[in-house]
Amino acid sequence: MGLTNVYGVPGWGRHGDGPGAALIDGKAIAAEMRREVGEAVAARVAGGAPAPGLATILVGDDPASHLYVASKHRACAEAGIESIDHRLPADRPQAELLALIEDLNADPAVSGILLQLPLPAGFDAGAAIDRIDPRKDVDGLSTLSVGRLWRSQPALAPCTPSGVMELIHRSGCELEGATAVIVGRSELVGKPLAAMLLAANATVTVCHSRTRDLAAVCARADVLVAACGQPAAIGREHVKPGAMVIDVGINRGPDGVVGDVDFAAVQPIAGAITPVPGGVGPMTIACLLRNTLRAAEPAA
Ligand code: NDP
Repeated sequence: MGLTNVYGVPGWGRHGDGPGAALIDGKAIAAEMRREVGEAVAARVAGGAPAPGLATILVGDDPASHLYVASKHRACAEAGIESIDHRLPADRPQAELLALIEDLNADPAVSGILLQLPLPAGFDAGAAIDRIDPRKDVDGLSTLSVGRLWRSQPALAPCTPSGVMELIHRSGCELEGATAVIVGRSELVGKPLAAMLLAANATVTVCHSRTRDLAAVCARADVLVAACGQPAAIGREHVKPGAMVIDVGINRGPDGVVGDVDFAAVQPIAGAITPVPGGVGPMTIACLLRNTLRAAEPAA
């Protein structure tokens, strides 16, 4: 069955009697965002301003974290953003991490600070994140950033839910008055996404592991976002025909990476759907670059 690429095509909202859901191409949308950020950075530098600078802090030796940080540095370089690499051995005290964050807060060459998570055992990640100046909090995870987001005050918003919002907007989906259901209430994804969807005037329900009759709640959604970290937890019975389905899940198993949505079961009845991989995943780094640019701008 051929999938239609919904990107740039106002085809969303078709019902299940057609060729199935249109595919929301996160790779293409992320590439467009990265181009936009690159152009804005180039214009800024051409105007005499310094390039934005992203300071990354990597504590310990987690191999996956090393890969993530390296890919963030590559993405920064492509967009013309300076990256400043800081590493701390896992056996250093929390106080040393906090002192480094204070130094970066005070450094005018640093527009954004990214503390790569998870931290090794013994570190208090929440306290470290809260030490980041909210104007430089490009992950948008500090208590102040989260509070500002909920109060609709200017804030740098968390990258993965921002990526979900971009996918929804750039696919031509009208959120005003729509019923949106999120499966997952994490601080990283579900909760901030609820604030963003609410700010876009959707009617928002947040589900979690104790939700009764999850399928019935999800089946009311015009926009359904799966962010529960459970492979293929969302099946056909969870989806209203014609709904937009955004799959945040990244689950690594014997068959490679799969999402939280049973793509094969849902694609025939949904209106639009993100693939995994190639949906939300590429958006996270694109939003990190955009946050770093915003952090460098005086108004941010
Ligand atoms: P968490 O494990 O922090 O949270 C999972 C949430 O889902 C919890 O609120 C949990 O409920 C809920 N949940 C778990 N099982 C069920 C279930 N069977 N039914 C309903 N709700 C359930 O995960 P994250 O939010 O960090 O990540 C979610 C997924 O998104 C993961 O697959 C992760 O890998 C992926 N991810 C992808 C990113 C990207 O860039 N694309 C970035 C970040 C995450 P409760 O609160 O009751 O425990």
